Amino acid sequence: MKVMKFGGTSVGSAQRMKNMVGLVAAAGNVTVVLSAMSGTTNSLISISQSIKDREAANAAKQIDDLEKKYIQTAKELLNDKNLLEDALGYVSKVFEELRGYVNAPFSIKEEKEVVAYGEKLSTNLVALYMKEKGLNAVLLDATEFMRITAEGEPDQEYIRENVNAVIARNPEVDIYLTQGFICRNHLGEIDNLQRGGSDYTASLIGAAIAADEIQIWTDIDGMHNNDPRFVEGTSPVGELHFEEAAELAYFGAKILHPTCVQPAKYANIPVRLLNTMQPEAPGTVIFNAKPTHTIKAVAAKDNITAIKIKSSHMLLAYGFLRKVFEIFEKFQTPIDMITTSEVGVSVTIDNERNLKSILAELEEYGEVSVDRDMVIVCVVGDLEWQNRGFEAEVVNALKEIPVRMISYGGSNYNISLLIRKEDKIRSLQLLSQHLF
Ligand code: ADP
Ligand code: ASP
Ligand code: MG
Repeated sequence: MKVMKFGGTSVGSAQRMKNMVGLVAAAGNVTVVLSAMSGTTNSLISISQSIKDREAANAAKQIDDLEKKYIQTAKELLNDKNLLEDALGYVSKVFEELRGYVNAPFSIKEEKEVVAYGEKLSTNLVALYMKEKGLNAVLLDATEFMRITAEGEPDQEYIRENVNAVIARNPEVDIYLTQGFICRNHLGEIDNLQRGGSDYTASLIGAAIAADEIQIWTDIDGMHNNDPRFVEGTSPVGELHFEEAAELAYFGAKILHPTCVQPAKYANIPVRLLNTMQPEAPGTVIFNAKPTHTIKAVAAKDNITAIKIKSSHMLLAYGFLRKVFEIFEKFQTPIDMITTSEVGVSVTIDNERNLKSILAELEEYGEVSVDRDMVIVCVVGDLEWQNRGFEAEVVNALKEIPVRMISYGGSNYNISLLIRKEDKIRSLQLLSQHLF
């Protein structure tokens, strides 16, 4: 069985839903994971904000507007009178429930419930359309088998057991349809896998059912060699190693959710990135690709803070790094990049929540300085250290850009450079010009 995940744009209108159902029908035996229609999750977050701010009229207006969009989509999607009635009944029920949140106590728990309606709406509409088309499909409720632990990590044992049990209860079905993104937490409450998390759902399900392939269908023909939002003339990369894809996703290639590669990698299931608007394009396949001795792609991650700890003493004597890392561990702040010298160490973080406390403790060990609004540019490829010249090419491409940190040799797959936010687009362009 294959897993096919369709993102927000791929279910973004009635016509897009019809196209994606066509692709699913042609694929045969599949599990289909859907995002919310594009814009819906943002609207639900904005509605939640208005409710939190006690702006009831504003929240009500946004709920009305969103409901109109779904009524319109249902009408464009379904011809069968009874099925359309079912769809409109479902939409009306959902929006009545949403109205029930306005003027009621509203905490993070309620916010997660509200945000979950996007995926419920898209999957319910698509399920009715599949029925209209006479497809042998069943809609599975993701909150029955997707669960995260108290630490917010997917509970992979639970997911494996339960998704397979649900599938076993529905034998002889061609298409298992379910929601991306949403899950339950360890308390049984509705929760989610973070923004963009439908990709993660797809790979977790793929690993749980030992799928032949996990397909991520989106609005572009695969992983491009640079960020198409900032660089013109980028082109798709045909093959990526799991490690390369993981680095790119983590360091800003929005096409993939950062954590989505891991489950597929451990289960050794290929992930294919495909374009719903150009289904014949080969896209990108992510697997245990053979070494190519080439640089493959560049990505950038925003909102990075660099911290330097410097001392006149011989602080890099053993024990110093441990002390520094313990401070970050204590404040649950992951480090992305590290560079060291005899007199100091620089690290980067992307989460400033505990920055003040971290700095206060670091100051006990030396002079501390902070650079904000930085960007990590990550160059990914088969960069095994004995392959000559790659690091020189990368540094040379950026010779006109001030570079704050360089990290190389941590893996065989990447070189990372820390630059200022204002130099990001120019840097990405220079790297494309020099490397591809
Ligand atoms: P979906 O809604 O289907 O999950 P996303 O918007 O999350 O789609 O991801 C697709 C988008 O990722 C593309 O439209 C593109 O703008 C952006 N993107 C960023 N970096 C890359 C890259 N290196 N290759 C391809 N797309 C990228
Ligand atoms: N709908 C969610 C979001 O917009 C999850 C997803 O699309 O992957 O973040
Ligand atoms: Mg996405």
